[in-house]
Amino acid sequence: MPNTLTLALSKGRIYKETLPLLKAAGIEPIDDPETSRKLILDTNQADVKLIIVRASDVPTYVEYGGADIGVAGKDVLLEHPDAELYEPVDLEIACCKLMTAGRVNEVEKKGRLKVATKFVESTRRFYAQQGKQVEIIKLYGSMELAPLVGMADRIVDVVDTGNTLRANGLEPLEHIADISSRLVVNKASMKTKHARIQKFISQIRAAVREQRND
Ligand code: AMP
Repeated sequence: MPNTLTLALSKGRIYKETLPLLKAAGIEPIDDPETSRKLILDTNQADVKLIIVRASDVPTYVEYGGADIGVAGKDVLLEHPDAELYEPVDLEIACCKLMTAGRVNEVEKKGRLKVATKFVESTRRFYAQQGKQVEIIKLYGSMELAPLVGMADRIVDVVDTGNTLRANGLEPLEHIADISSRLVVNKASMKTKHARIQKFISQIRAAVREQRND
C-alpha cells in the first residue's frame, strides 16, 4: 500500500514489549490483538497499520512486501538466513539465549547425537561448526519433552530464566546465540518510502536508548 506504513508483529511477548517503543514513536493501536479477531489493526495514525502474524512468518511478510517493517526475534531471523531484509535496529527486548540442553548430569553418549528442535538451521550450523555429526529431529513446540521420552539426547531451544528446563530435569549446556527482537525492513519499501521509514527508525532508536536508561 503506497501511502501507508504496515508493521508486522506477532502476539504475546513481542507485541507487549514493542508497544512502549511504538508509543514513543507516536503510534498507538486502536484495537487490542489479544481480544480482537482482526488481523489488520488500525492505529491512531491513519497511515500506519499493524498486521498480526505468526512470529515465524514475520520475515516472510516483510521480505515479500506484505509489510514494510516487522519485529522478529533473532532466533526466527537465524532460521531465515537467505531472507532479503534490512535489520537496522536491535530493539533490546524479548532477550534470551539460544542454547543446547540435555538431561541433568547425563554423560554424553558416543556416536551420533539426536537433537530435537524447531531451530533446525541454527542447530545444523552450530554442530557443523563443532565438526559434530548429529541427527536433527524437527519439532514445532514442547521440545523439553523429547529427551524425557527417550526420543532425543539434546534439545536446542530459547532459554530465559532456565525454569522450564529445570522443571523438566534438563540443564542448559552450550550457548549458541544471544537473542533479542530486531526491527526488519523490506528492501523496496526502504527506497520507495525512505523518508517515512527513516523517521520511524530514528524514533524507535531513540525509544530504545531511553528504555536502556530506565
Ligand atoms: P524460561 O523458563 O524462562 O527459560 O523460558 C523458556 C521458555 O519460554 C522457552 O521454552 C520459550 O518457549 C519461551 N521463551 C523465553 N524467552 C523467550 C523469547 N525471548 N522469545 C521467545 N520465546 C521465549
